[in-house]
Order: sequence, then C-alpha cells, then structure tokens
Amino acid sequence: MAFRETVFAWLRTRTLVTEGLTRDQLSEFEFNGRRHRLVGTQTGIWRVKEHSPAAISILTAYSPDDTKRPYDDTVGEDGMLRYKWRGHNPDFPDNVWLRTAMELHLPLVWFIGIGYAPGGRTQVFRPEFPVWLVAEEPDQQQFVVAVEAGQRALPAGTDANVIEFARSYNERIVRQRHHQPLFRSAVLYAYERKCAVCRLPFPELLDAAHIKPDSEGGPAKVTNGLALCNIHHGAFDKQLIGISPDYVVHVRHSVLETFDGPTLQHAIKEMHGERLRQLPHARHERPDRDLLAERFDAFQQAS
Ligand SMILES: [Zn+2]
Repeated sequence: MAFRETVFAWLRTRTLVTEGLTRDQLSEFEFNGRRHRLVGTQTGIWRVKEHSPAAISILTAYSPDDTKRPYDDTVGEDGMLRYKWRGHNPDFPDNVWLRTAMELHLPLVWFIGIGYAPGGRTQVFRPEFPVWLVAEEPDQQQFVVAVEAGQRALPAGTDANVIEFARSYNERIVRQRHHQPLFRSAVLYAYERKCAVCRLPFPELLDAAHIKPDSEGGPAKVTNGLALCNIHHGAFDKQLIGISPDYVVHVRHSVLETFDGPTLQHAIKEMHGERLRQLPHARHERPDRDLLAERFDAFQQAS
C-alpha cells in the first residue's frame, strides 16, 4: 500500500499541471530512489514486480475514430464498467496480476487515452484512481471495475429488480466519476487549459461546455465541447453570446446596447465579431460545425 499511495500522490501532483501524461512521462516515477514505469511500453496491464505481485495499472488506448464513441467502455447489465483480459488465456501473466489485485483488494490506476500530444501521434492518458477490480467474468474474459469504493458486483442469480436498482445507482456513479471527468480532461487538454473565447489560462475557472447539451443527446466527445471560463460558459448557456459555425463570437444586441463597467465591456462586448482565440491543434478535435450551427440558430432566435 505504501507503494500504491506514493504512486497516487505522484499522479495527483502531476495532474495539477496537465490533464494528460504520455508513456514517457509515466516512466519518471521514483520510489525508494529508483525509477519505475507505471505503464508498459505497448501493453495495457502493468505491474512493478519489485513492489507488488499484483497489477498497478490498466490502460485504455485513445481512439480518434469518430465512428466509435470515445470512452464507450463495456458496461454490464449492472451498470458497472468492465476491463478485458489480455488475450484469451486466463493464466497469461497479465491476467494473473489483475486477479491478484482483485483478490488482495488492491487499488489500481486506470490510464485512459484522451488525445495525442501536440503535433504527433503520441498518446496522452488521464489517470483515474483509485479503481478496484471487484469480480471476474471468465466467460466474457473480463473483470468488473469499481470506480468508487461503494460499488459492488452482484452475485450470480440476483433478482431482476435488484439488478435494475443497482444499474441506476451504478450509471450515476459511472457518469459522475468516470465519463464526466474524462470529457472535461479531453476538452481541457485539447484547448491547452485555456478559454476558447478569451484564453483565460486558469483550469480552476474553466469548464468543458457542451455545444449540444448532454440532456439533448449531445455526444461526450471533444468535437461537441468547448473549453470556456465561468463567465463565457454562463454567457454561452444563457445565450448572451453565440458562436457561429465559422468560429466567430456574436454578442446579443441587447447586451451590446448595455453600458456598465469593465467586465461587461472587455469580457463580453469586445468579443463581438472576434474569432475563437483558442482551438485544438488537431483538426479532428475542433468544434463540429453542424452542432455549432444548430446551437447558433437557437441563439439567433433568442436574440
Ligand atoms: Zn473566457
């Protein structure tokens, strides 16, 4: 546990300054004066042999493929996440390390790909921790993953009503602890932790805004997101500002005609007609123009 706690503390420190870490950065961890990798160079399941017989981390690669929904992990009928074995052999060492972590109730780190480092194909990963493996489903060659200590696997033959109840509980936990933070990290990473409208560079004041809202079926992918500071997120949601499909900011007429103080003047009115100042480097991560058009129509109608 001392080793694991040190890993978690190190990751906590690293993620203060970035949303995502590369495999190289994840090989810089030190414990008792020695360096250790926290992920494999190619594979998804990793352990640090000197400090534990059990896996320390699992990893899910990033997929830029737009036809697959990102982070569309396997979810069981109980609403809990699943993680696949390596290959098909239950006795493969990687699978044994996972089983050992499960049997010893040891917390792990789940590294999930959220994008590429600027200018290349080097993947960056968001660490999620602690997570636990709480059951194994050998028929489906996978483990059941808990992202909160309160999540429990249901025994075989559980009553359908209980499964239904557990599913709604687990879906809420998975959304709050897993999908929403992943969306936020992927968006903030793509926008280099700056507001798309004003480039404010303080992550504690930034949100990952949806272009098409979650509640209207907007997908949780970077192209449906915008990194916005609290002021611009609020203004965007309340339709004081709109963003046209050519990435230009429009301020509502009634707001342009209001005169009151420097925040209104500089933070809102002076953005009128300006192009978004911060956009993702990678074209495939920039805001979806169709989703923006839909939202912009609503803005125009409101103003
Ligand atoms: Zn802003």
